[in-house]
Amino acid sequence: MKTFKNFIGGVWAEPATGDYFDNVNPADTRDIIGRFPRSGAEDVERAVQAAKQGFELWRRTPAPIRGDVLRKVGDLLSARKEEIAQLMTREMGKPLNETRGDVQEGIDTAYYAASEGRRLFGHTVPSELRNKWAMSYRRPIGVAGLVTPFNFPMAIPTWKMFPALLCGNAVIFKPAEDVPHTATVLVEILLEAGLPPQVIQLVHGLGEEVGAAIVAHPEVPLISFTGSTETGRLVGEVCGRMHKRLSLEMGGKNAMIVLDDADLELALDGVLWGAFGTTGQRCTATSRLILQAGVHDEFLSRLVDRVRALRLGDGRKEGTDVGPLINANAVAKVERYVGIGQAEGADLLCGGRRATGKGLDAGHFFEPTIFARVKPCSRLEQEEIFGPVLAVIQVESVDEAFAVNNDVRYGLSSSIYTRDVNVAFRALNELDNGITYVNAPTIGAEAHLPFGGVKQTGNGHREGGWEVYEFYSETKVGYVDFSGVLQRAQIDTYLGTPD
Ligand code: NAD
Repeated sequence: MKTFKNFIGGVWAEPATGDYFDNVNPADTRDIIGRFPRSGAEDVERAVQAAKQGFELWRRTPAPIRGDVLRKVGDLLSARKEEIAQLMTREMGKPLNETRGDVQEGIDTAYYAASEGRRLFGHTVPSELRNKWAMSYRRPIGVAGLVTPFNFPMAIPTWKMFPALLCGNAVIFKPAEDVPHTATVLVEILLEAGLPPQVIQLVHGLGEEVGAAIVAHPEVPLISFTGSTETGRLVGEVCGRMHKRLSLEMGGKNAMIVLDDADLELALDGVLWGAFGTTGQRCTATSRLILQAGVHDEFLSRLVDRVRALRLGDGRKEGTDVGPLINANAVAKVERYVGIGQAEGADLLCGGRRATGKGLDAGHFFEPTIFARVKPCSRLEQEEIFGPVLAVIQVESVDEAFAVNNDVRYGLSSSIYTRDVNVAFRALNELDNGITYVNAPTIGAEAHLPFGGVKQTGNGHREGGWEVYEFYSETKVGYVDFSGVLQRAQIDTYLGTPD
């Protein structure tokens, strides 16, 4: 079995701990992909000291040149797209069409970042004083600690890493322990593209060990975290105490609303993809379906037929619709929530069990599950399950649908199916989410728009698009006075002050 290494200080290095963990294929747990370092605080310390050196070099590299490296990264990702999709499905489980999309998002993010190297706009504005220039520009910050989840093994690391690098920061990357192989290939590609080796450090290991050590390290001023709201709270507490710049992207409980006037066939396609794509393990997964009374019964019966026809299996096999959950803990969590739903009196319409049978017994498969008559404010309706479980809520009116959508602690994405343009625009205004889709499911973000959520999904920052470049750089203001005299702001600003 292959043993993988960290990348620290410009070399592939064994962990100081000497410990390793197995990376297992969730579709067949007999298939071990490799052993990866279970690193510790000493590895993090070495990574931080190396990254500091990398930062001194990289921050002086002109941004357009940094962009050229990222363009090459995009080219290399494109060339290796199929190979990466295959290995990603093997370690993460989702079907190949989804892992190809995951790599494509990394490619798009690379090319967007490359072009940003020739923008990184500041502002030049008039000074209130004569013969004086006033301008703002963007400076790199330092060593960025990036902690990422398992569900988008390529896209989410690139959302963080490429803007961080483009802005001139050095990076310490701690990928989720379920998907270390994709992370390793990403770092190989960055190096092949010509990134100076000290600028990127890859430290594998567990969240409570490596992740926590990066977050708490005093010489890492910038942390970007994507994961559960519970872990994000721990990260936020530490960063708050240490006055760190922090971006949090966390959980969701996203709803799709289908109104009486909706195109039902379109909405059916949407909810199948939104709820059961990635086995429900997307932060934007459709985990609630809010149905208006006039379409409730018909829509549900057609949906259950479609869900029963979904094919579970190894995501590398042609024809697989739904892959496995990521690990045994995820299966146990979904089972727990099925029990909670039943105890709360919801109607289990299909699924609700581990999936067994040919090709499934050695993997973490779970049947796509639908609960109807779910009560607003019940645990099934409020809590993130992160699995193939859809909670259906019936409502009478548009206003009630909006209220149910908004009455959760999360606020990532929402979706509405209607043919009424007035209602569609009202939804954009009134649904409390970072993203609202009209006549499309709750998933489908594009790399050049800001991505993130409100309430306990995030802390106000966004990934992607133009906004993320502000997170990874510091605004500096420069005033240049070429008047040759002392000019006092707010004092010598009267009309008639001599040149
Ligand atoms: P997780 O919180 O278990 O882990 C995320 C990362 O944090 C992993 O790398 C993990 O090792 C690390 N970690 C764990 N404990 C830590 C600690 N104490 N200190 C520092 N790091 C620690 O999440 P997960 O199971 O990998 O991913 C699923 C969650 O991520 C879901 O809640 C999902 O909604 C969320 N998510 C959110 C977005 C978004 O953009 N809002 C995107 C994808 C996933």
